[in-house]
Amino acid sequence: MFVDEAKIYVNAGDGGDGCNSIYRDRYHRYGRPDGGDGGKGGDIVFEADLNIHTLLDFQYRQHFKADSGNHGSSNHKNGRSGEDRHVKVPPGTIIKDAQSGLVLRELLHVGDHVIIAKGGEGGKGNSRHRVAEAGALGEEKTVVLELKLIADAGIVGYPNAGKSTLISTISSARPKIAGYPFTTTAPVLGVVKVHEGASLVVAEIPGLIEGAHQGKGLGDRFLRHIERTKVLIHLVDIAGCDCRDPYKDYVKLNKELKLYSKELITKPQFVALNKTDIEGAKENIRKFRKHLKGVKAFPISAVTGEGVRELLSAVYKKVASIKKHEQA
Ligand code: GDP
Ligand code: MG
Repeated sequence: MFVDEAKIYVNAGDGGDGCNSIYRDRYHRYGRPDGGDGGKGGDIVFEADLNIHTLLDFQYRQHFKADSGNHGSSNHKNGRSGEDRHVKVPPGTIIKDAQSGLVLRELLHVGDHVIIAKGGEGGKGNSRHRVAEAGALGEEKTVVLELKLIADAGIVGYPNAGKSTLISTISSARPKIAGYPFTTTAPVLGVVKVHEGASLVVAEIPGLIEGAHQGKGLGDRFLRHIERTKVLIHLVDIAGCDCRDPYKDYVKLNKELKLYSKELITKPQFVALNKTDIEGAKENIRKFRKHLKGVKAFPISAVTGEGVRELLSAVYKKVASIKKHEQA
């Protein structure tokens, strides 16, 4: 389980001012006040929406303002109210006040909504109040959004297979994740935008080596993170850097996963043959494919980005169909 986070500033609409106006005609010597009221400012409403899955979009947009109310005018005309501003968040989002850290609300289910900042009331016009009032200011607030994420796809592979490189290119090419700890001692999470409206949560599982299921290396601590993912991306260093045999690595890692849990090995696996940009990789791919009859492998280069798009859309399709199945 990982936590996605965003900090945003919201400002509800200001109320419109009341109008100061005196109506005079030849029958009324002193005139009559006829200034209308100002309209109410729009509220900021947070709403849980089915089609939003991550807080990724708040990386690009952190300010939300609702419309202000219109001012009142003469002849008792009231100003129009400002429109509310709806901010869509994924179901499961926790909204906290940034200053106090207090939880304002949790929007758990689709359709849940809450007013986070109230629009200012409109000022009364002088037809209702001796002197026209100014409209009240809309509330403003900085809030922190938190969403617990479960990774859709876990990237596994031997050290130096290029897991970190891959996750940093896919989640910065379509920017970006947030400040998840990017160290080798903790799983790294990336929110990847596959295409418009389609995102994937990917986690790098570091430190898997032979014996990991018994706690070797960084051990089994991280294996449990991939138990809940829908699919695995098995990254292989196909260039065979560090004098490794790519196919042996592949077999050994799968054995390791199986030793940890039989279920893990039954998860759909996407084999990605990384580092195709290095000389000799083509030859190795050919050899690897001979061993791996019937399994589709994706040649990619995490550095140049070659083949990565194909891999991600295949992964996305699979994840989407698994999720659909689970819901049905
Ligand atoms: P990790 O241990 O699996 O996270 O591997 P890293 O992402 O840290 O990568 C290990 C090394 O391989 C680094 O020096 C990377 O620059 C290099 N590397 C990763 N992917 C590629 C690739 O596609 N092409 C090339 N040429 N080098 C790569
Ligand atoms: Mg790494």
